[in-house]
Amino acid sequence: MDIRVLDILHQTMADGPGFRTAIYCAGCLHHCKGCHNPQSWDMAGGKPMSVDELLEIIKADSMSDVTFSGGDPFYQVDAFTELARRIKEETNKTIWCWTGFTYEEIMADAHLAKMLPYLDVLVDGPFILEQRDTTLLFRGSPNQRIIYLKGEPEDDAAPGTVPLVKLR
Ligand code: SF4
Repeated sequence: MDIRVLDILHQTMADGPGFRTAIYCAGCLHHCKGCHNPQSWDMAGGKPMSVDELLEIIKADSMSDVTFSGGDPFYQVDAFTELARRIKEETNKTIWCWTGFTYEEIMADAHLAKMLPYLDVLVDGPFILEQRDTTLLFRGSPNQRIIYLKGEPEDDAAPGTVPLVKLR
């Protein structure tokens, strides 16, 4: 199973807490006005990489956790779910995932929701240019939420500086 990948950042500190391997995928149909990455919108962009290939790259960096971004990983939900499942089965890494869908939209769609059990944190919702706020951590506008899907936040998530949303 392949994922169309635009870029892979190694040991980035801008895509969630700590060092992370960030998989930037191609394809986004949200088309938010003022999107920071419109070159990522093309669903046929990037280059196909297999789940095995990506897993090997992720595992090669023992100190970094994982981020899914783009584009929107939920437009390639089958392959990303497979990658997320394998990461959880074969490593102890956390997974943060950015999406233009809201948590509620994902929960209402069983096909999209199948990835959630394997994610630690979802940063959800479209970017709203009129609400742009450059002081926000990890988000462009305040409608976007940092949602902890697995209960307590990671120790290095700087509680108090991020509006944590715990769902269970
Ligand atoms: S969801 Fe993200 S990548 Fe997609 S258009 Fe909006 S800001 Fe851009």
